[in-house]
Amino acid sequence: MEHEVIKRGLSDTSETPKGKDVFYRCTECGGLISSVPKENAGCRCGNIFIDLDYFHLAVRDYTKFEAVMKLLR
Ligand SMILES: [Zn+2]
Repeated sequence: MEHEVIKRGLSDTSETPKGKDVFYRCTECGGLISSVPKENAGCRCGNIFIDLDYFHLAVRDYTKFEAVMKLLR
């Protein structure tokens, strides 16, 4: 699956794009997480975590976080 980076260098989760084709990528462990997961989701190293109960996206290190979009071919 190919992805295009749509946002990098974010510093606030309120600016983070969201959608069916939007994913969050952790450049630390390479984890890819849906921006609209069906259950709580996080990457392996714990840098990114989405708590669905509170619709809360938590990012520990924004320099290792980017929002990407699935390329439709
Ligand atoms: Zn990670």
